[in-house]
Amino acid sequence: MKLIRLREGKERSLLRRHPWVFANSVERGKADPGETVRVESHDGRFLAWAAFSPESQIRLRAWSFDEAERIDAAFMLRRVQAAVAMRARLAVPSNGVRLLHGEADGLPGLVVDRYGDTLSAQFLSSGAERWKAVLADALCQATGCSRLYERSDAQARQLEGLPEVTGWLRGEGSTAVTLTEHDWQLTLDVAEGHKTGYYLDQRDNRALFARLVRQFDCQQVLNCFSYTGGFSVAALAGGAAHVTSVDSSGPALARATAHVALNGFEASRHIALDADVNSTLRQCLAEGRRFDAIVLDPPKFAPSAAHAERASRAYKDINRLALKLLNPGGLLLTFSCSGGISADLFHKIVAGAGIDAQVDGYLLQRLEAASDHPTTLCFPEGEYLKGLVIQTR
Ligand code: SAH
Repeated sequence: MKLIRLREGKERSLLRRHPWVFANSVERGKADPGETVRVESHDGRFLAWAAFSPESQIRLRAWSFDEAERIDAAFMLRRVQAAVAMRARLAVPSNGVRLLHGEADGLPGLVVDRYGDTLSAQFLSSGAERWKAVLADALCQATGCSRLYERSDAQARQLEGLPEVTGWLRGEGSTAVTLTEHDWQLTLDVAEGHKTGYYLDQRDNRALFARLVRQFDCQQVLNCFSYTGGFSVAALAGGAAHVTSVDSSGPALARATAHVALNGFEASRHIALDADVNSTLRQCLAEGRRFDAIVLDPPKFAPSAAHAERASRAYKDINRLALKLLNPGGLLLTFSCSGGISADLFHKIVAGAGIDAQVDGYLLQRLEAASDHPTTLCFPEGEYLKGLVIQTR
């Protein structure tokens, strides 16, 4: 077993059971990509068993803080089983579930979504990559699923020096899936969609939106960054007269249109706009249009804290425009999925947007990812999705 020795004082985060060690904390020691290493403090105390990532700034990701634990196939199976058992107790109102959420489930770099009987996985770290075959078997064993599709085409792989890989890891056949989320049918393709195919993290917020649309009698709805129209179907289910979905992805919008029909809503109640959200918001303002509810669910504007300033301006801009486009008493559901933007900062950005727009509003609710995307006490970085429900006045 190779040994990695940390610099003096750099043992603190591992002692607090935070799973990452950055490159500049390592005093000496090297290993192959993904190899399990023993991590010790400057004075030789055991800290963790970890996976080594020679190319990443996150040089070590801890598997275990227990010196007696062996990092082997049985360990991987135990972690997978624990994650699957945690979800089983959540009573998720969908057959689409985030089964494994990386660091929060003790398997850094591994993300797995279950869509019906198909699993879709991202192996995002050298450690997860090295244990891929073992993890694939463990996932099939723990879930009873025989089909596992790999979507290791995320940008995070580059930081680890890993190539893009996609395709069936276990099983084969059609990559098309139909989910039942709440009362709605939603389709996706694990081979083609974003990330693992779909955004399960917004599941609870979509149901909330349907309730809010009904409660506040929202007639005209604008769903920005709609992807495949999850929030649009929710708005229609909540009784909206008309929904506009805006996205820059043609295939996602085609699916949004199909979802309106699949769920039994008149095609005339929905329009799909293949356009840039910022320009669309400006155009709507220029045309004097107004909405009763707007959803803003943009992609990650700030991949890390270093991008926070530029991202803040981008968030402020779209929120300012959206607030101006709402009728008095209208609802804004606004989100940020940037890890580099804290919930506090996001709140400040949206408040700033309100001041610029000269629109005040009640902060009705704070939102987060559904609980099958858990955050843990030791790993606050896991908290990425935050949202606000605002009612203008
Ligand atoms: N709300 C969606 C998920 C949104 S993901 C859901 O509930 O499923 C973010 C979406 O923003 C992606 O579909 C992406 O295609 C789209 N997007 C990214 N940049 C955009 C832009 N400038 N204008 C319009 N859409 C954009």
